[in-house]
Amino acid sequence: MAHISDRVQALAASATLAMSQKSNELKAHGVDVINLSVGEPDFETPRHIKEAAKKAIDDNYTFYTPVAGYMSLRKAVSEKLAKENGVTYAPEQIVVANGAKQALCNVILASINPGDEVIIPMPAWVSYVEMVKLAGGTTVEIHADISQDFKITPSQLEAVITPATRMILLCSPSNPTGSIYSREELKALVDVLAKRPDIMVLADEIYEHINFTGSFTSLASFPEIADRTTIINGVSKAYAMTGWRIGYCAAPLWLAKAVTKLQGQYTSNASSIAQKAAEAAYTGSQECISEMNKAFERRRDLVVELARQIPGLKVNRPQGAFYLFPEVSAYIGKTTPEGKAIASSSDLAMYLLEKGHVATVDGAAFGMEGYIRLSYATSDDNLREAMRRIAETLALLKEQNK
Ligand code: PMP
Ligand code: GLU
Repeated sequence: MAHISDRVQALAASATLAMSQKSNELKAHGVDVINLSVGEPDFETPRHIKEAAKKAIDDNYTFYTPVAGYMSLRKAVSEKLAKENGVTYAPEQIVVANGAKQALCNVILASINPGDEVIIPMPAWVSYVEMVKLAGGTTVEIHADISQDFKITPSQLEAVITPATRMILLCSPSNPTGSIYSREELKALVDVLAKRPDIMVLADEIYEHINFTGSFTSLASFPEIADRTTIINGVSKAYAMTGWRIGYCAAPLWLAKAVTKLQGQYTSNASSIAQKAAEAAYTGSQECISEMNKAFERRRDLVVELARQIPGLKVNRPQGAFYLFPEVSAYIGKTTPEGKAIASSSDLAMYLLEKGHVATVDGAAFGMEGYIRLSYATSDDNLREAMRRIAETLALLKEQNK
C-alpha cells in the first residue's frame, strides 16, 4: 500500500525536469522534438577536466572524502572566490555538495524553521519555493515582470520585510529570465537589507560566468552584508559539467558546520572523482569559459532577433544565463485548430510541444503566469528551426480566432 509522506505530497514535481522527460519520451517514439526546456550547456566537458577525472580513478581517489569535500577543492574554491569575486571565505566555510541544487537545499534546511519567511523575487527557478516548503518555511514572493526587466526594486523589497523575515534568495544572472542586477542595483537592495542584520542573504551565483555584460558583482562583496551572505555556485554551468554533480555553498562558519552535519547524515560527500574534476576546472585554464560564453552570446542575439519577429511575443534582452522568458499572454484565451482552449501558459507550452514539437517550460512553474521559458543552450540550427516552428504553431492559434 502506497503511503506517501505529507511532506512529499505537498511537493510539486520539478517542471523543468518533467518537461524535458516528456520531450525525451516523444523523441523515443520517433517524434522530432527540439528540446528548449531543460537548462544545461550543450557543450562537452573540456578535455583537461575529463583527463583529471580519469587520473583521479587511476590514482585511487575512490574512497569516502570528508563530508564537506576534499580540502584541496575547498581551497581552490576559496581562492577562486577571492580572486574572481573579491570575497573572503576560508576553505572551512565551503561545503561541497551534489550540485548547486543540493547546496541550496542544504542551506535552506539547515537554517529555516516553520514560520520563517523567505523572500523570493519572482519569476524564480522552480526549485526554490519547493525547498522552502520542505523546510516548513513560508515563501514571500515579490513579482517583477518584463516591464521592470524582471528585477525587483528596493521599495518592493522594503514592503515585504516583516519581523518573521529570515532570508532573501536572489539569483543573478537569473534563471528563468537572464536578467542581471548591476552593482548599483544590488547596492540599493543591500541598503535596505543593511537595516535588518538578522536577515540572511542567499545568493545563487551559478550563472556568474554566463554573462554578456563584461562584469559581475557578487552579493557577498558588499561589506554591509558580507558576514551573513551565503554564495551558491558550482561547475555545472560554467564548465559544462551538469552530470558530474558538483556545487557548493560558501557560508558563515556556523552555517557551513550545520550544513556539514546535515549532509553527513543524508548523502555524505559528493563523488570523489567528480570533486577532483572540479578541482581541475578551478585550477586549470579558464579559456573554455570565454569560448562558451561567446557562443551563448551569439545565440542570445539570434533567439532575441527571431522572437521579436513573432507577433504578440514580448521579449527583453537577457544579459546572461541562457534563457529567454517571453511574455505570451497575447495567445492565452485563444483556441487551437482542434478546438481546444488555451487557458494558461501551461496549455500553451503543451500545445507548442504537441503541435509544434518544441519543448519549453510554462512560466507559472517559475511563479509567473503568461510567460514561457526557452533555453537557448542548443545549436544555432536548432534555434532557427525551433523559432520557425513556434512562429508557425502560434500563427495557427490566431487564425482560429478570425
Ligand atoms: N540554481 C539555478 C538557478 C539553476 O538554474 C540550477 C540548474 N538547474 C541550479 C541552481 C542547480 O545546478 P546544479 O546542476 O549544480 O545542481
Ligand atoms: N537549471 C536547469 C533548469 O532550470 C536544470 C534543471 C533543473 O534542475 O531544474 O532547467
